[in-house]
Amino acid sequence: MPGPAPREGIEQRAEFQLFLRQRGIRSNAVLKALELVPRSLFVPEHLLEHTYADRPLPIACGQTISQPYMVAYMTEQLQLEGSQKVLEIGTGTGYQTAVLAHLARRVYTLDRYRTLVTAAEARFQVLRLANITAMPGDGTQGWAAQAPFDRIIVTAAADDVPRALTDQLAEGGILLIPVGPQIGEQRLMKIEKAPGGALSEKVLMPVRFVPLVAGRAASL
Ligand code: SAH
Repeated sequence: MPGPAPREGIEQRAEFQLFLRQRGIRSNAVLKALELVPRSLFVPEHLLEHTYADRPLPIACGQTISQPYMVAYMTEQLQLEGSQKVLEIGTGTGYQTAVLAHLARRVYTLDRYRTLVTAAEARFQVLRLANITAMPGDGTQGWAAQAPFDRIIVTAAADDVPRALTDQLAEGGILLIPVGPQIGEQRLMKIEKAPGGALSEKVLMPVRFVPLVAGRAASL
């Protein structure tokens, strides 16, 4: 059997770490988690040379794998300490999921496309990441059966913050979500739920994500 295709070298990963530090990623735990996940495993074969290019890349089902800096930034903003239960909406390739799995107790992840979920699960197996549960589903409804979540991260842009997600956020929890129209300005929002349940929000930065599409999971 042929082994895995030639993947990334040590220099590429070292350069990536340097780039992230230069862009202001400070958490050693986050940098380490990114070092542990070979991004090339998540990038389509014909785009391998662009593995660490700092832009989103097209993947199956007309979706994208997020820009590497954005993955690092969002992960850092989640302030994970190893004990949290995380919900991710928008599995895509599973790259962000795999990074989270190194920093959280358990990660639940949903995508509308079964095809993407199945492919991501295969990658989690290759990487022996056993603390991830993935399922096809509509993330605008959250994952009620597993709620509450200490952290929720959405990697697609919503028109508004879905009520189900703030409801399923634990007290003391953090929700990161890009909000805004598909064409036009989207902003990454950080929403925190204080003990007692009061919500506060702040805008972190302008971003560009594929849309969060409400409704039943696509059959693909
Ligand atoms: N985090 C991914 C990038 C995901 S792109 C990665 O690192 O590869 C955004 C993903 O959100 C797409 O795969 C898209 O199918 C998914 N998505 C869009 N609307 C959704 C919804 N309502 N529920 C679940 N997933 C959704």
